[in-house]
Amino acid sequence: MLSKKILITLALLFLILALTGCQDPYTPVIQQPQLASAQILGYSVQQRPIELITIGTGEEKVMIIATIHGNEDAGTPLVYHLLDKLRARPDFLTGRTVLIVPLANPDGQANRTRHNASGIDLNRNFPASNRINNEVHGQQGLTEPESTLLYDLVLTHRPAHIVSIHQPLYCLDYDGPGEEIARHMGQYCSLPVKKLGSRPGSMGSFVGVEKNIPIITMELAKEDSDLTTAQLWDRYGRALLAAITYPESPY
Ligand SMILES: [Zn+2]
Repeated sequence: MLSKKILITLALLFLILALTGCQDPYTPVIQQPQLASAQILGYSVQQRPIELITIGTGEEKVMIIATIHGNEDAGTPLVYHLLDKLRARPDFLTGRTVLIVPLANPDGQANRTRHNASGIDLNRNFPASNRINNEVHGQQGLTEPESTLLYDLVLTHRPAHIVSIHQPLYCLDYDGPGEEIARHMGQYCSLPVKKLGSRPGSMGSFVGVEKNIPIITMELAKEDSDLTTAQLWDRYGRALLAAITYPESPY
C-alpha cells in the first residue's frame, strides 16, 4: 500500500517536471537556419531531373551553375557545401536570393562525357550571334532540353550576375560586364583572372555579351575532382561567397 502511494507521488512529480521543467525563460533564441527550397526545372535527354535550389528571399538574385560539362563536376559538391554554409549563415543572404543549379548536365556526369547524351556541347548550344551550327554545337540554338531550361531560367530571373563552374583551365574568366566581380572573387582564391574570349554559342556569349548580365566562368583545376568537399571548400568556398556578397567582403 505504501509503495503504491510512493509510486503515485513519483508519477505526479514527473508530470509536474515534464509540464514546467522545459520552459526556461532564459533559454537563448536560436537563429533559425535559412530554409532552402528545391524544384525540378526539367529533365535531361536521358530523363534525369535537373534541380534548382533557391535560398533567400531578397531582391538581388545571384545564380550559380555547376557541371554544364559533365566531366567537369568538381563544382557540384562545392555548391552543395555552399548551400550548407548559406543555411547556417543567413546574414550572407540579406537582400539576396541565391539560385543554384548543382548539376546542369546530369547525363554527361553519369556517362563521364563533356557533352550531353545526344553528343551536344551544352555550352555551345545557346542562341548567341557568334554561334557555329554543327553536329557538336547543335544545328541551331537550344536544340537540347538542358540548355533550353537554363536559357529559360536566366531570362525568367534576370540575375544580377551568374557564376558557372567548369574545369580544368584554372582561372576566373568573364563575359559581358563581369570583370569587376571576377577580380573581387579573385581576392579570395588563388585562381587568376584571365579573359579567355567568348566561345561560339556559349552561355557566356549569350548571357554576358548579348544580355549584358555579368557572367563569371570559374575554371577549377583538373585535379580538383580528386579533392574532398572540405578541400574544395578550402580552395574555392570564400570566392563563391564573395560572388554572393559582391561588392562587399564575405568576412
Ligand atoms: Zn567546361
